[in-house]
Amino acid sequence: MNTIDLRSDTVTWPTEAMRHAMATAPVGDDVYGEDPTINRLEAMAAACFGKEAALFVTSGTMGNVTSILAHCGRGDEIIAGRSSHIFVNEAGNPATLGGVHTWPLAVQPDGTLALADIEDAIRPDDPHYPRTGLVCIENTHNGAGGQPLSVEYTDTVGELAHRYGLKFHIDGARIFNAAAALDVPVDRLTQAADSVTFCLSKGLCAPVGSVIVGSHEFIYRARRIRKALGGALRQAGILAAAGIVALEEMTERLREDHANARLLAEGLASIPAITLDASTIKTNIIYFELNDAAPISADDLGVALAAEGIVIGSAYGGQKLRFVTHYWIKTAHVEHVVQRIRELLA
Ligand SMILES: *Cc1c(COP(=O)(O)O)cnc(C)c1O
Repeated sequence: MNTIDLRSDTVTWPTEAMRHAMATAPVGDDVYGEDPTINRLEAMAAACFGKEAALFVTSGTMGNVTSILAHCGRGDEIIAGRSSHIFVNEAGNPATLGGVHTWPLAVQPDGTLALADIEDAIRPDDPHYPRTGLVCIENTHNGAGGQPLSVEYTDTVGELAHRYGLKFHIDGARIFNAAAALDVPVDRLTQAADSVTFCLSKGLCAPVGSVIVGSHEFIYRARRIRKALGGALRQAGILAAAGIVALEEMTERLREDHANARLLAEGLASIPAITLDASTIKTNIIYFELNDAAPISADDLGVALAAEGIVIGSAYGGQKLRFVTHYWIKTAHVEHVVQRIRELLA
C-alpha cells in the first residue's frame, strides 16, 4: 500500500499470492453449483468451523442479513447488542427486508451481552409480542474496542438460546482475530452457534467476500435468500481464490496485527494529550480520546497526518478516534506514527 492507512482493516489490499490465485483460478457458473473454486472455499470454510455447509456471500452485511432471514420470519424478533454492527450499521435490514424486529441490549465493556439481559429479553408466547427467534453476538466486538468473547461465554449464550428453543448466530466478521487472541481453534469458539458469518476482506486481506457456515438445512435456506438479495454470483471463483489464500495463509498472522496494536496503544498512551488504557487492547482495534492537553482537535490531527500519507479518518464524534492495525501496517509504521502524533500533540 502507498499510505499508512489506520482507518480499518477493510482497507487492506490483496496480497501477491491472492492476486496470483485470482488470475489462475478455475471457474464455472456458481448459480449452477459449477464453480470449483467457490465449492472448494465453501468446503474449506465448513471444515474449518466444524459445520456441515458454507455459503460465499459478497459482504459481512449480506452474511448477517441472510442468516437472520434464514432463521426468522416476519413478526419474529432478534436479540442483538445496541452497539452491534447488526443493529447500528446494516441499514436496519432485518426490519426493512424481512419484517424482523430487533431488541437491542446494552453491550458490556468486555463486548458481551449480560446473560440476565438476554434472558429478560426472551419473550413469552403472547399475542402482544413479537416472537423471539434468534440471539446474535459479535466476536470480536468492534464497538467495545475489538474485545474477544471467550469460549465459555459463547457456550453459555448458546446453551441459554437453545434452552428457550432459539437459534444462535455469531457475527464473526473478525472471529479469526478472536481465535488468535484467545489462542483457541475457531471451530471450538463457534461450536455452540447455529450460524456464523465471517469476513475474508478485513484482516484476512481478501478483496471481497464473507462466508456463512451452518447446517445443510440452514445453508439450503440461506442460498435462496442470497438469490433473493441479488447475491447469487457466476464465475465468483475469481473472488473465492483470494478467500482460499486468506484461510490458508492469513489467519495465524493476525497475531502480528495484535502485537502491533498493543505497541501502538502503548505508544499513544504515553502521550500526555491522549487518554487510553493500553492494557484493554486485545486484538487489532484501538479506540482512544484526545484530552484537554491536546493543542489541536482530533479532526485537525487527521488533516495534518493525511498530508504526510498517514490516514486516520475523522473523529468518532468529539475527540474520539479509532485506529485499526492490519497486514499493511508494519512495526516500523507504528513507531513512525507514534512519533509524529507525539510531535503534533506536543
Ligand atoms: C465489517 C463488519 C461487518 C460487515 O461487513 P461488510 O463486509 O462491510 O458488510 C459485520 N459485522 C462487523 C462486526 C463488522 O466489523
